[in-house]
Amino acid sequence: MKTILTIAEMRQELAGFRAMGHSIGLVPTMGALHEGHRSLVDASVSACDVTVASVFVNPAQFGPHEDYQRYPRTFEADQAMLEAAGCQFLFAPDVAELYPDRTRVWVTPETEVADGILCGAHRPGHFRGVLTVVAKLFNIVQPTHALFGQKDFQQAWLIRRMVADLDLPIIIKVAPTVRESDGLALSSRNRYLSSVERQAATVLYRALEAGRLAILEGETDAPAVEAVMHQLLATESTFTTEYAEVRDAATLAEASSPLAGEVILAIAGKLGSTRLIDNELVIVPVSVSTGSVPLAEGAAYVS
Ligand code: AMP
Repeated sequence: MKTILTIAEMRQELAGFRAMGHSIGLVPTMGALHEGHRSLVDASVSACDVTVASVFVNPAQFGPHEDYQRYPRTFEADQAMLEAAGCQFLFAPDVAELYPDRTRVWVTPETEVADGILCGAHRPGHFRGVLTVVAKLFNIVQPTHALFGQKDFQQAWLIRRMVADLDLPIIIKVAPTVRESDGLALSSRNRYLSSVERQAATVLYRALEAGRLAILEGETDAPAVEAVMHQLLATESTFTTEYAEVRDAATLAEASSPLAGEVILAIAGKLGSTRLIDNELVIVPVSVSTGSVPLAEGAAYVS
């Protein structure tokens, strides 16, 4: 695996592969790699001729009071993991390479799908920073495929929209969330947790599961499902909930009641100073979304 620090060298290395018509998979990351990142690299290695992973802690997506400075940086371990996974190139520019000047042109998503809802509402400007850096990486690497995790659902949704709305010729793959055996979604930020907080952190997954079960058992009212999740989150007094919501997975709009189709259950909050997020996609069973048919109106009972 080659580690590449400059845009010019990255372009030069890939030009030959592109000319030969090879597929190029890009896995953008902020480093401090774990098995969740590894699953994206594995998927790229099996789908594409060439895999490029990027490691860049992007200052543009952190708010002024967020953890940019203390974000974990484990570069040598990241290199070793990527090499073992069969990644051919690690693109690791420094901040001056990607942002040599103050940025004046950004990729800014509409408020109603970004800063107005979910993580965007709690991290103003975050998704503008994410989409701008991902657009830059797409232009530098020009991948045929790019891989993202379901763990960051709103991010993956916005990247799909960016690719569709700006006609970028890139296939976006979204891989399932990799979890610890007790359900906690892997995250680079989990290493901030004390051992007591680590135990409490399973509350996100437990609340998502409670919401999912409520739907599978016939709950069709979105606020009622949200109440189930809030109740479970409240059992962990050290967890401060930012949001626990049910949304339409295709549009990110508030899920309409009765629930139907594919919905996303999404939770974010803090344990101490560590912000954690998680989500689950639920396909509402048809028998739930149509409700139980009253006897007198049921066609099945007419005969
Ligand atoms: P990050 O380094 O946190 O910016 O994440 C880089 C990519 O890895 C993003 O597409 C994330 O959604 C994805 N990712 C992070 N955690 C997980 C996980 N537990 N399972 C699968 N993908 C993940």
